[in-house]
Amino acid sequence: MSPPPCASSASPTEGSAASNQSGKPRAVVSGGAGFIGSHLCEAFLNEGMRVLALDNFITGSSSNLKVLEDKPDFEFRKANVNEFIDIEGDLRYVLHFASPASPPQYDANPIHTLKVGTLGTMNMLGLARAKSAIFLLASTSEVYGDPLVHPQPESYWGNVNPIGPRGCYDEAKRCAEAFAMAYKRAHQVDTRIIRIFNTHGPRMQVSDGRAVPNFMAQAIRGEPLTVYGDGSQTRSLCYVSDLVSGVLAVLERGDEMPINLGNPHEVTMLELAETIIGLSGSSSRIEHRELPIDDPRQRQPDITRARTMLGWEPRVGLEEGLMKTLEYFRSVA
Ligand code: UDP
Repeated sequence: MSPPPCASSASPTEGSAASNQSGKPRAVVSGGAGFIGSHLCEAFLNEGMRVLALDNFITGSSSNLKVLEDKPDFEFRKANVNEFIDIEGDLRYVLHFASPASPPQYDANPIHTLKVGTLGTMNMLGLARAKSAIFLLASTSEVYGDPLVHPQPESYWGNVNPIGPRGCYDEAKRCAEAFAMAYKRAHQVDTRIIRIFNTHGPRMQVSDGRAVPNFMAQAIRGEPLTVYGDGSQTRSLCYVSDLVSGVLAVLERGDEMPINLGNPHEVTMLELAETIIGLSGSSSRIEHRELPIDDPRQRQPDITRARTMLGWEPRVGLEEGLMKTLEYFRSVA
């Protein structure tokens, strides 16, 4: 693979693990300093692998790397994967998790969001091809847009507004999926596509603007919980450890076709706000705010494919997971 004209401005800071001849398999994770990316890095290390995390810190945080940085099999490189990326040594897995992922974050960085979903995906696929590695794309339930089919199976093509405020994220991820399929068909890269539904857990940013961090920070501070619209819109929340075990299962036993990963337990946003008030023992009340444009009315994964093909399903219940996330937010909010 030859570098495109826009050669990397990345500053390699790879440590000794790059030249490690231990024979341990190695994974590279873009967005490795992000919420889910950092949990994945940790899981790979626990599996006895070496890990190189890439991040440009647009939305990732160095604090998410604290538990990882002293581990001998962990390396970090500050890099923008929208530009050509070259990595020395063998790779077994290339995972593309880099992207702003909350509606306020991608609204604030629409061009970067489009680039990382398109150019970033292409560069990570090129890396996987050069290394004969398995490539995994972190896609999203957003590819279903405001779904007209409920719950959403992988066979549903979605209902996305390409020119609305969510279009930069939704269409970038749809293009990313098309890129993965093209590299599979044209270059026989061993690809995987996961469609991640709403996930929560430790290391989410307090200020990323999503429902769980907002409601938890507001409940802890005794502020009103801001429910958008009448709160009847639904989401299905998965705890991060379940998501991570799903990703590992997809790497081992998945194929190139997209697979939903999420928890089918569906709740309205009003129920979620009330549950968080109850679990936190807060005296906060609920305040309704304007519903954002194109906010999906409903969302619930059909996980038949994950159950059948991977033998995977979420194990952490809604309240159990929310309690763990709440504990984290108490320590940082
Ligand atoms: N939401 C809300 N209050 C908030 C933040 C979000 O009512 O303070 C709603 C939002 O309108 C959406 C749902 O919660 O209907 C989930 O939003 P989130 O940003 O967590 O993720 P999305 O699934 O929309 O990407």
